[in-house]
Amino acid sequence: MSNLDVVKIYDELHKMPELGFEEVKTSEYLAAELEKLGYKVTKNIGVTGIIGELKGAEPGPTLMLRADMDALPFVIDGKDECRHACGHDAHCAMALVAAANAVAKVKKGTLKILFQPGEETLKGALAVMEEGALEGVDYVIGLHIRPVQDIPDGTMSPAVNHASSTFIHVDVEGVGAHGSRPHLGVNAVETAALITNAIMAMKLNPTMAWSCKVTGITGGTVANIIPDHAKMVIDARAQTNELMEDLLAKLHQAVEGAATAMGAKAVVSFPGGVIPAAELNPDMTKLIAECIVDVVGEEKLRPEIINPGGEDFHYFARKIPSIKAGYFGVGSGAAPGLHDKDMALNPESLKNGVAVLEKVVERILG
Ligand SMILES: [Zn+2]
Ligand SMILES: [Zn+2]
Repeated sequence: MSNLDVVKIYDELHKMPELGFEEVKTSEYLAAELEKLGYKVTKNIGVTGIIGELKGAEPGPTLMLRADMDALPFVIDGKDECRHACGHDAHCAMALVAAANAVAKVKKGTLKILFQPGEETLKGALAVMEEGALEGVDYVIGLHIRPVQDIPDGTMSPAVNHASSTFIHVDVEGVGAHGSRPHLGVNAVETAALITNAIMAMKLNPTMAWSCKVTGITGGTVANIIPDHAKMVIDARAQTNELMEDLLAKLHQAVEGAATAMGAKAVVSFPGGVIPAAELNPDMTKLIAECIVDVVGEEKLRPEIINPGGEDFHYFARKIPSIKAGYFGVGSGAAPGLHDKDMALNPESLKNGVAVLEKVVERILG
């Protein structure tokens, strides 16, 4: 056991919240701690990411523990303020202490600790992958604190099955005209309304969770001009990657069909990409469940969580299918809820997350 205290580290990181890809102080702090522990540290991966690497004496697989570092922007009392409202400070604290306690336990293979930037931007995982951070990794483990709405404080879930998610822009091009001569134009705002109805009429497999909703329509200038342009924003989620493929194929059909019916054009784009759904390895989920039972006992092991939110961690196994991914939930009494500016959690429960990470390291590299 190291003498690092997860509650103290959490407190320190909590006081230095930084936005995605700007985690300069956080990554300096974490890199310095990893170096003190004897890890070989590579910095500035995907702008502010860090990897610590520790090799065992014997050859063996590579296990990566991944924690995200970024906080969230708020406007509080009229001022811009950055806060850790998603618990990424807790994730870093747990991964760092697990890294410290694992030093004596890595007998074979390689342990890598990835502190990833920019999870909230959903671009951090891709940024570190582009720099080869996941090359040669056999197993990757992620974790997230869970709010009171998911599981009680002190309990744990062996898998968090995030949905695939994306936001979509639709640019509708019509033809402008005088308000008194609408037959000479093509009304882009009316076209957007028809597209909205077509999207609302889409049908997907009703046994699976999905949603697709128009969250913004803008267009038009003054009352007596037929608008020639409208912009739509859509939020879409689906519980599996296959379901998302079906959703997007039908969305294209709905958008383009409705636009054509009006004589307009519509261009669909995905400015944030499409975040993949979790494809967790069942053996990893089973191993994590066993470690959870060891740490908190059978009665505090909760079922797998279905989560309609997105997590860019799932790019790892989606882009490199040989990687076996596990992702667990740490019940930590987080309330009122994640992404609430006043989110607070019970730091004592982070000790459970540390212990599970350590056990996973022992099982794979011990
Ligand atoms: Zn978040
Ligand atoms: Zn988060």
